[in-house]
Amino acid sequence: MNYVSTRGEAPVLRFEDVLLTGLATDGGLYVPQTWPMLSSDDIRSLRGLSYAALAARIMQPFVGAAFAPSELAGLTADAYGGFTHAAVAPLKQLHDDIWLMELFHGPTLAFKDMALQVVGRMFDAILARRGERIVIIGATSGDTGSAAIEAVRGSASVEIFMLHPHGRVSEAQRRQMTTVHAPNVHNIAVDGTFDDCQDLVKAMFNDSAFRGRHRLSAVNSINWARIAAQIVYYFRAALALGAPDRPVAFAVPSGNFGNVFAGYAAARMGLPIAALYVGANRNDILARFFASGEMAIDTVHPTISPSMDIQISSNFERLLFELLDRKGGAVTGLMAGLRQSGAFSVDADCLARVRQMFAGFRCDDDATRAEIAATYRDTGELLDPHSAIGVATARALGTGKGVPVVALATAHPAKFPQAVSEAAGITPSLPPHLADLYDRKERYTRLPNDLSAIEDHVDMRLKERAAA
Ligand SMILES: *Cc1c(COP(=O)(O)O)cnc(C)c1O
Repeated sequence: MNYVSTRGEAPVLRFEDVLLTGLATDGGLYVPQTWPMLSSDDIRSLRGLSYAALAARIMQPFVGAAFAPSELAGLTADAYGGFTHAAVAPLKQLHDDIWLMELFHGPTLAFKDMALQVVGRMFDAILARRGERIVIIGATSGDTGSAAIEAVRGSASVEIFMLHPHGRVSEAQRRQMTTVHAPNVHNIAVDGTFDDCQDLVKAMFNDSAFRGRHRLSAVNSINWARIAAQIVYYFRAALALGAPDRPVAFAVPSGNFGNVFAGYAAARMGLPIAALYVGANRNDILARFFASGEMAIDTVHPTISPSMDIQISSNFERLLFELLDRKGGAVTGLMAGLRQSGAFSVDADCLARVRQMFAGFRCDDDATRAEIAATYRDTGELLDPHSAIGVATARALGTGKGVPVVALATAHPAKFPQAVSEAAGITPSLPPHLADLYDRKERYTRLPNDLSAIEDHVDMRLKERAAA
């Protein structure tokens, strides 16, 4: 399988290079050159597989020659073997036609583990084979940092430096990063905001002298391998509810559009998906787009579902590429408009096509708390705020249409204990493997918001590691 850029100017790459590269050189995102297609019989043949075996089957066409089927099956078995629920992503019935798929049974309690646990192992396998080493540098406001650290901890080929804004992430989120004591993990608390951290990371990537010293890489949400791994749970849920002989809809709480784009990919592969309902918090740029055809940037408002507090959904560019009949030049034009004027629009025909599959729903903090309370009262299930937006979206857009709706639960309620206890009146407890999180010893370095201070620290750490 080869990959092309959504802006049409970057070289065509194989899976392993897409995995290690991230963003394309023309500023675009990599997508498969063609969508692998599964017939109804192919889909039926997937019934009854374990989650790990299903993951290997679904991901095989995307990885191409990078991993032989047996090697890929080994990677997925190892990745999902570490989850704390035997079903990996259990499906629970909430109402007559609403189901909840729990994607938070990985090591860091958020759905990012579903992809990153596999992707980290892929990095390791490919780098070991090539005899290469990379340095991952990232910035985090919460979930992504801990999931990335857990994915590569202990790797012989990867060093990871994760910047977080000092005093501005929750204690649970900070501790999930800073209590990992693997020698290749380096946490930096920056005296600044999350935006400062992101700017520092960008500046390091743009510093050619620094890049000449270290081979930098990223594991952010635009990495195609993450999308490929996320396609799997759409198949898993649909198979359990009767696919390919019965269509299924999904309700997905969305930030960067990475999760829900994987659902779109599953539909392109032949899975009968009747609808993809996109849930937003007060930061509702996507819901406004599905209503009007205009993508218009607003300021970011902090909410109780912080992993969805974003302005631009970076993975949306992949959908745009499909909507514009894979014309890279047209995507480049719209993205330039977004940068210059903060907005772009698609025409009525394009909007009509996108609405055949997508609809958006906005759920503010009060509605989110009300959903947590109602679901707890009616079913006994405790939802985290992100998952509650998924369920509220399913209820608002999906019920009574004769198609089961699967709401994706993206975080464990104990990851956001305050919001949950305010809404439901009980405080969710951490699962056993994290029960002593607040007693563990932390290790991190606090540094000023200053590029050369951060780069010097990275240089020094990497020199120490090379000598060790
Ligand atoms: C990252 C995240 C989201 C948003 O997922 P996207 O792929 O960015 O749309 C939703 N909920 C939780 C808990 C997350 O960590």
